[in-house]
Amino acid sequence: MSDNDLPMIPFNRPSLAGKEQEYFQAVIENRHASGDGPFTRKCHQMLQEYLGAPKALLTTSCTHALEMTALLLDLQPGDEVIMPSFTFVSTVNAYALRGARPVFADIRPDTLNIDERLIEDLITPQTRAIVVVHYAGVGCEMDVILDIAQRHNLTVIEDNAHGLFGQYKGQKLGTFGAMATQSFHETKNISCGEGGALIINDPQYIERAEIIREKGTNRSQFFRGQVDKYTWVDIGSSYLPSDILAAFLYAQLEASETIQQNRQRSWERYNTELESWASAYNIRLPIVPDYCQQPYHMFYLLLPTLEMRQALIAHLKAQQVLSVFHYQPLHLSVMGKQYGGREGDCPVTERISDQLLRLPLFNNFTDAEQDRVMAAIQSFNPEK
Ligand SMILES: *Cc1c(COP(=O)(O)O)cnc(C)c1O
Repeated sequence: MSDNDLPMIPFNRPSLAGKEQEYFQAVIENRHASGDGPFTRKCHQMLQEYLGAPKALLTTSCTHALEMTALLLDLQPGDEVIMPSFTFVSTVNAYALRGARPVFADIRPDTLNIDERLIEDLITPQTRAIVVVHYAGVGCEMDVILDIAQRHNLTVIEDNAHGLFGQYKGQKLGTFGAMATQSFHETKNISCGEGGALIINDPQYIERAEIIREKGTNRSQFFRGQVDKYTWVDIGSSYLPSDILAAFLYAQLEASETIQQNRQRSWERYNTELESWASAYNIRLPIVPDYCQQPYHMFYLLLPTLEMRQALIAHLKAQQVLSVFHYQPLHLSVMGKQYGGREGDCPVTERISDQLLRLPLFNNFTDAEQDRVMAAIQSFNPEK
């Protein structure tokens, strides 16, 4: 049998937690498929209880939750928002949409998170917020970042798309910022295909968040009997997902312990079994500080060069294993350059984006599949 007869091992394979069908049936029987139905309420309660957050609101995506944070901060053209260049485009787009100017910071070479030592130099009188991204769910240096924010009167937002179930120094990721955003996209640990959540830790944003999420109306207050009719009170959009998606999501959230155990097992197998191969070829594995508890969202390799990274992708593909690179520096993108981004602005980001390779890791990854991935990796001799 040639390698090409083996089934392809994908980078990500969406999986069912078990009760999705049953809960879909319940939505049909409830006759409440629009937003904020019984399953949405269950998801809100579960997220609030798990995080100990005053408010969790499901959204149609993490992108939309980020847009809500920009609206809630009342960002105006000319305002500046500091964020890493090494992140997904939605982190920046949400603020650019409001006319705010992104100011990109480089990342730390160890955790690949925003380098907190560089933030203070980027602050100007126009700075309004710092947006952090816990890359691979490994916490940013929140002690330092919160201190900077407090001293300069800035709001901290966590793009916690990778970080649900992670902790930094014993505190859950998603509970540090005034607000945090979650993603339930198909590629994340917990998924409903497309979905997200806005976590509100600073209660001053709760009332307006409900209004913005409901097309700028006080409909949520109306349904709670707090006002006798509902009307247009602010700007807003439609950021609430159907209860059909919430039902799917609830099934996944309920299974989170099993999902996390499976991912932890796969992550640790990679980390242990690839260690000697990696050190022989000067290939770096993820660094997780001992005060960070990670949610096993991602396993990556850092290859010494772009050429070697591309060679490994091709080598794995020839053995029916799909591996992928990740973020390209936002400051060097077409839009990033329009905001003044130049080569050399964020040297660590520029280097890491060429070196990083993500390996298959998903909820129902079997040991047999992972063995095949690891054998394929170990048959790669970068010196040839
Ligand atoms: C996945 C992701 C998003 C976007 O999530 P969606 O739910 O697809 O909008 C935003 N930021 C980061 C860091 C992500 O990984």
